[in-house]
Amino acid sequence: MRLTVGITQLLPEWEIVIQQIGVSFEIISPKEPISADQFSAIIITRKEAMPEKDVLLHYLNSGGSILTEADVAEWLFNIGTMPAFVNTIEPIKDPIFSGVLPGFIQTKLFLPRRGDVLESESGRKLVQIHTSGKGTAIILPGGFSKIILDTGVRRRNFPTRAPLLPSERITRKSKHTIREVIQRSLEHLHFVRQLPFLSLSPFPDEKQSIFNFRIDTDSATEEEIDSLYQLCLNRSTSATWFVETKSARDRIGQFARMQNQEIGLHCYRHKVSRNYSFNKLNIEKGCRTLKIANIPFCGYAAPYGEWNIPLAKTIEEAGFIYSSEFTLDYDNLPFYPYLRNRFSSVLQIPIHPISTGRLRNARHMEDDIRNYFKEVIKERIEHNLPLFIYDHPSSINLNVLNWLLQYVNKKGISTISLKDYAHWWKKRMEIKWSAYFGTGRISIKWRHPNHSVSVLLKKSPKESVLIKTKNVINLYNLKWQKKKLSGKLTTPMALRIKLNRKMIFNDILSFYGRLKQ
Ligand SMILES: [Zn+2]
Repeated sequence: MRLTVGITQLLPEWEIVIQQIGVSFEIISPKEPISADQFSAIIITRKEAMPEKDVLLHYLNSGGSILTEADVAEWLFNIGTMPAFVNTIEPIKDPIFSGVLPGFIQTKLFLPRRGDVLESESGRKLVQIHTSGKGTAIILPGGFSKIILDTGVRRRNFPTRAPLLPSERITRKSKHTIREVIQRSLEHLHFVRQLPFLSLSPFPDEKQSIFNFRIDTDSATEEEIDSLYQLCLNRSTSATWFVETKSARDRIGQFARMQNQEIGLHCYRHKVSRNYSFNKLNIEKGCRTLKIANIPFCGYAAPYGEWNIPLAKTIEEAGFIYSSEFTLDYDNLPFYPYLRNRFSSVLQIPIHPISTGRLRNARHMEDDIRNYFKEVIKERIEHNLPLFIYDHPSSINLNVLNWLLQYVNKKGISTISLKDYAHWWKKRMEIKWSAYFGTGRISIKWRHPNHSVSVLLKKSPKESVLIKTKNVINLYNLKWQKKKLSGKLTTPMALRIKLNRKMIFNDILSFYGRLKQ
């Protein structure tokens, strides 16, 4: 029995999500008969001709698993659909999707009429489980995966235990929620066939999570930068610094002298435009400033976390390996952004977008800030996500950041520079592999294997184990880890989606702030 997922057409949104999940996959054209043993699941992304439909239905009836969306399921299973506007997803008690990262959807989707699971805020079930013969299909709403390509931006509230919610301008639709729903669907489609679910771990060297401290220098003084640097040295933290080079150009040597830190470019002028020439000139000036000081760099993070296609082209032409902008995505795994008709060559690394500045803006005292980050760290680990926190140099933050770096060290989460993670992720993406499941063992064939990449093996929603890349996994002597997912939410989505006066005020402030730069 092969543990490989087939996909009929690798649409860009599916390519992004499958690479993030790290499942072994293969593009198929269902012309010849497919036996249930050939693919552990098949993702059907578009309507095909009649002969293909017969092949796919035969695969399902003979015990295969299918993942598709309602518009395709209309053709495949003759189901009924209806349009509906879905605001948020927040499954708390659900047989398949419990504990998925809650998120903003705010999209008109085509729902299967007979949805059974994944309730939206209106009480409608968004996903249908369809069984036929010996097989199971999961039908997601039509238009669901496409949300991954959305590039809209909005100010969003974040959960906290303090009275006032912190907010930041970020991607308006929560792509991590889409990815987790797809991932859970694929897992379920394996478990329902008594098959384990295998994926490449998103972290190197069998780690449970990784930490990066990203600093955007935003016209900080030499002293402020030095105090934060000393803090990083004291805590043995290799941070990633994105330098705003205009105010620092005459003292850029400060960054050249830093030990064990990664330096990247934030900007020359602290501004991003939709104008290609402005961005190009601004980035060129910034690069020149770093080069004159002999500072090696390969990463970029735009001011205000802004991202747009003209900017993406400039970043590409400047030769950056990776960039990190939370208006494109946050709290998610890396991916190559899609630029209308092709993928960018610059890897996008999402981070957590709420800095201590945003927390102070929402009147968080030091204790509140600590509690906030404790929750963030817990949630990142539970969801198998990196812990990438960002901030700015400022004397007022030193105390709490000292606590944060200590706390992360104490938790045993190892630090990685964004540069090293980008290189590692690219290697992870090159790996081609396929697994075979037999009695008591799994054998894997590797192409371009990498010894720092490990396999995450799941046998149920809660039981998993991390294994070094090897050719044979003996299922009898594994130490399964039981995961407890806390279904409790700090702040319900119904509250997070509400616009409040503070958010409107913050939007006006940030608009004028950006205008002035
Ligand atoms: Zn900045």
